[in-house]
Amino acid sequence: MFGVDILVAFVITQAAILATTVYLHRALSHKALKLSPSVDFAFRLLLWITTGINRQDWVGVHRRHHAYTDIEGDPHSPVLMGYWQVQLLNLFYYRRAAKERVSINKYTKDLPADFWDKNVFSRAIVGLAIGVALLIAVFGVVPGLIIAGLHLVMYIGLSAAINAIGHSFGKRPFPNFATNNQWLALLTFGEGLHNNHHALPTSARLAAQARQVDPGWLVIRLLNYLGLATVRTLSKTSGAT
Ligand SMILES: [Zn+2]
Ligand SMILES: [Zn+2]
Repeated sequence: MFGVDILVAFVITQAAILATTVYLHRALSHKALKLSPSVDFAFRLLLWITTGINRQDWVGVHRRHHAYTDIEGDPHSPVLMGYWQVQLLNLFYYRRAAKERVSINKYTKDLPADFWDKNVFSRAIVGLAIGVALLIAVFGVVPGLIIAGLHLVMYIGLSAAINAIGHSFGKRPFPNFATNNQWLALLTFGEGLHNNHHALPTSARLAAQARQVDPGWLVIRLLNYLGLATVRTLSKTSGAT
């Protein structure tokens, strides 16, 4: 039932990417929206068991990317390093940048580690072990490990694609090196509309031109409708979803 394994892994990866774009990227890094405490915590828990990501590290590395986009100091620029370097080694570059604590601290002064960061979510191995254990409990040992492995490859590959493809190939309606790729946006809850994002970084909606679709924005609208999220800024554009 390898097809089922791939499908389950894809769904888990999509959940992790949704948490990454809505929570780590749009809410924390750019303050484009504010989430209710319950949704905030749910995203942190989800990220812990699906990625093990430390939120201060992610926000610090990402804000540095915006501060030095495609110039010396950018942690993962394919314009400087080459497309394949970033596509294949994005995780390595991320970890290298996350080790530079002076830089991380400089960019995350507004995000001090709280009780949960210090005592629970900073233990990436424990979170990932719980995630794998849950998969094994539901699907069995071998399928559980296969699903975990596939999810790892998909999440790392799509995250790398946003940084690599998203600064190399695609449309550039705004004057910056980042690019828009609608197909990538459909696989990454909107993150593929990366040219728009670099032009309008505080916009909670990543679509900015007609006929563009940002699935992450649809989720944010739903959360907003349910009273679970407040959108702080909105780009002055029309015709995009
Ligand atoms: Zn970028
Ligand atoms: Zn950003």
